[in-house]
Amino acid sequence: MPDSPIYLDHHATTPCDPRVVAAMLPFFSEKFGNPSSLTHEHGRRASNAVEDARIAIARFFGVQPNEIAFTAGATESNNTALNLLEPGHHFITGAMEHKSILVPAKRLEQHGVAVTVLPPDGEGFIAVDALRDALRPSTRLVSIEAANGEIGTIQPLAQLAALCRERGVLFHSDITQAAGKIPLDLSNVSLASFSAHKLYGPKGIGGMIVRRGVRVEPLVLGGGQERNARSGTVNVPGVVGMAEAFRIRAEEMAAEGVRLTALRNQLWDRLTAEVEGAFVNGPRELRLPGNLNVSFERVEAESVIIAMRRFSLSAGSACSSGERSPSPVLTAIGVPERLAFGAIRFGLGKSNTAGQIGMLVDDLRRNIAKLREISAA
Ligand code: PMP
Repeated sequence: MPDSPIYLDHHATTPCDPRVVAAMLPFFSEKFGNPSSLTHEHGRRASNAVEDARIAIARFFGVQPNEIAFTAGATESNNTALNLLEPGHHFITGAMEHKSILVPAKRLEQHGVAVTVLPPDGEGFIAVDALRDALRPSTRLVSIEAANGEIGTIQPLAQLAALCRERGVLFHSDITQAAGKIPLDLSNVSLASFSAHKLYGPKGIGGMIVRRGVRVEPLVLGGGQERNARSGTVNVPGVVGMAEAFRIRAEEMAAEGVRLTALRNQLWDRLTAEVEGAFVNGPRELRLPGNLNVSFERVEAESVIIAMRRFSLSAGSACSSGERSPSPVLTAIGVPERLAFGAIRFGLGKSNTAGQIGMLVDDLRRNIAKLREISAA
């Protein structure tokens, strides 16, 4: 039995790649300058590192370096994107978006922005026709994630964005769970949010793509860094680490995607064949490679996760302010409450192997049977 549990929660965060850590290290004590201090060599060295990182990340996404702004992560990027909305504007988003979209949307609604929340279909897809029907002359911004972090659904991003472009509406996408995992067509996307810690980079650093001609309304005001999109001294080690993380993903993403899809499908097939009352939530195709979300009948996910000591797992259901409620994502795709409370989200990543999947299925089968026996007794 391994000393530390096997990590299967790669949607929550990922370990920093050692190559990322190595790239960051000189920028703490040695090349510590403030990239805005352009009057001396210390500052210029830091500034050069930040600009090199910007070029590398822009290249990864196929955009221009001046279309990348660094932030403290995707929460801030998402909040900033929505900050361009003003009273009287109409905003459209989806019911499965991250809270850093849905919570500011609620606040904006209280301040005179009209908000439409599109329901997904049973597998989590937002239909292009549903978006077309929801557009109004006052629609200023649409925000739809590239892929979902709970059930893995990959949205028809290119089509949704093309429709918005055609109608002259800004299109933002939260690409946090998709960036570095699957190829993305961002050609008609006006704004996008990403975060380094989901792709083996450090926490507390992320960015926004802001396409030429799009003006964001900054959330963090002050010295005007990042071309006024986000004030505050740039997190130089973080930016350097994030660029290294993207460089590695550019090399590894395709092969890793194929490997993880195979592992995920192996887990899917074995669980549904070997564990009675196991139902997969979300689609088989157009799904993030490392994602699986399974509801187990007649058990609470929370109890299963506690029993599964050899693994770090998370539930599809969220607990907010001590009150248990089923996952809004599972509710949005129509999963009944009794199955939503039995949902576990598996997030496979670089370190996971076929042997671990075998162990996982065995442990799940055993623990679930035991828990069902206890609750039936
Ligand atoms: N959007 C999505 C889809 C996410 O999964 C997350 C992280 N859970 C965020 C935004 C927030 O990112 P960060 O942790 O960088 O603030």
